[in-house]
Parts: sequence; C-alpha cells; structure tokens
Amino acid sequence: MMNIEPNKCIECDEVIIGRIDKKYCSDSCRSSHNNKRRVLNQSNVKKVNMILVKNRSILYDLSIRFQEDSVITTFQLKLMGFDFAFFTHQTTDRRGRLLFFCYDFGYQQLNGNKVKIIRNI
Ligand SMILES: [Zn+2]
Repeated sequence: MMNIEPNKCIECDEVIIGRIDKKYCSDSCRSSHNNKRRVLNQSNVKKVNMILVKNRSILYDLSIRFQEDSVITTFQLKLMGFDFAFFTHQTTDRRGRLLFFCYDFGYQQLNGNKVKIIRNI
C-alpha cells in the first residue's frame, strides 16, 4: 500500500477530505484565502500609485517653479524624493529622444546628469 500524504487546506491546514486536487477544506477557507490575496494585490497597486503620484507632483511643482526652462539635476530630483524606477509610459519626441512620463508630466534626460521637465504631450 502506498503511503500518501493527506491533502491539507492551504488556508487553515486542515486535512482535506474528498478529491485529491482540492486546495481548500471549505468554501469559507477558499474565499478568505482569495480575499487576502486580493487585499495584498490592492496594497501593492496602491504603493506603486503613490510613488507615481509623488513623482508626478514633483515634476508638476518644478514645471510651475521654473516655467519655460525647467532643467534640474537628477541628484536634485532624487533629493526631492523622485524615484526614477517608476513611470507610467515612455515615448520619443520628434528628434527621437526618449521621454519618460508620470501621467501628464515627464522628463527628458540630458547630458551631465540633468533632466528637462516636460509637460503633457
Ligand atoms: Zn480550511
């Protein structure tokens, strides 16, 4: 006779009676497990959104402060809390230069660790 490990509920660790492919002992364990996963997903989305919104507000503030000539160093941007790892989309301008956006505000990387703030396209 084979000694088969009993299947255990991934939510409460109870031994599952019934089909071998069951993952939960009950419907309530299934829904509580799925709820936890959903909450975790939502909080990750919120964290990323908060970073993007912060990036966007930094770019917005700078564009208001500097008007036309909004060039700043990447170091200064980082000091203000800007996170270069997060952006909503990329595009190129007519000259083929890469632009990074956080919603409707973006930046273009210039030589000498400088960036130029760009308003929506
Ligand atoms: Zn269970």
